[in-house]
Amino acid sequence: DYALYNSKTESRGQTTLYSSQHEQQIRSDRAIESALQAADLDQEFEVFLQPIFDLQHGEISGYEALARWTSPHLGVVPPDQFIPLAERSGLMRQLTQSLFNKALESITFLPPKHTLSFNLSAHDITCSETVMMLLGAIARMKVAPSRIVFEITETSVMNSYEIAEQSIRLLRGAGTMIALDDFGTGYSSLGYLHRLPIDRVKIDKSFIAEKGTKSSWKVITSIIALCRSMAIDCVVEGIETEAQKQSLKNLGCRYLQGHLIAQPMRAAEIPDWLERSGYLRKEEPKPLVILG
Ligand code: C2E
Ligand code: MG
Ligand code: MG
Ligand code: MG
Repeated sequence: DYALYNSKTESRGQTTLYSSQHEQQIRSDRAIESALQAADLDQEFEVFLQPIFDLQHGEISGYEALARWTSPHLGVVPPDQFIPLAERSGLMRQLTQSLFNKALESITFLPPKHTLSFNLSAHDITCSETVMMLLGAIARMKVAPSRIVFEITETSVMNSYEIAEQSIRLLRGAGTMIALDDFGTGYSSLGYLHRLPIDRVKIDKSFIAEKGTKSSWKVITSIIALCRSMAIDCVVEGIETEAQKQSLKNLGCRYLQGHLIAQPMRAAEIPDWLERSGYLRKEEPKPLVILG
């Protein structure tokens, strides 16, 4: 039977493809892990910042710090790959310390009221030394805690809920804000929303990626409405088109983040980018420079 034959070969083809990809994954995980062990964290890692746009005021309100690693052996390795491996090989505490210091140093390039969001991993949020380190660094760098947003995911809270909750309350008690990242992709998003002191929810970009499908917009619409009723700010990630931006504005969503506004960039590029973007607050014009 032709149809049967056809589907058999197709599925056999997929199996082969899958297993060779799987082997490659294992190999490259090993390579990444040993490159991580040998890495000079301060030299090889950078923090890029991606602007977060305030739809209500039509201006930038802050930035998310995103880790970038260029390994001399492997080239650029994306954070989705190296963060889980850094956790697994016990390097997360050092890596977070190095990245957070870089993030805090970059704040000098930002307008004084703009916020800085920093991602915390499962290990970070369950390690009291890390939490104390974060608070210590904020104090040492004399950054107003109200400018710092810590982004945590529901999956990172899930396994050691009690300890994670303590860390979150400690960070928030010190005046920083807490965002629930990748919202809607885990198992218990709604439960955490009322159990934890959450200032902001970040709706995962996978809801946007299913371009324009009605069902994903229904999910986004409901989450935005839910957040409004709980007085929690909403950020939608992965916005790439003007049409998506308009839809969010109509839904009363407060913040968005995505390539439509800007790709992540080095902190030193931010002042020029802000100038060119036209998103700078009109009430705060650049000081007039008189040439001559
Ligand atoms: P995340 O925190 O959910 O970050 C959003 C991701 O979406 C980033 O990927 C960002 O570059 C990407 N993105 C932003 N706008 C768009 C868009 O319009 N379209 C598309 N397709 N993507 C967009 P990135 O930088 O690769 O980071 C991936 C994840 O790695 C982050 O997801 C976060 O969970 C983790 N991560 C990044 N930096 C750190 C860090 O310093 N510490 C920890 N623990 N995790 C980090
Ligand atoms: Mg994030
Ligand atoms: Mg996210
Ligand atoms: Mg994510």
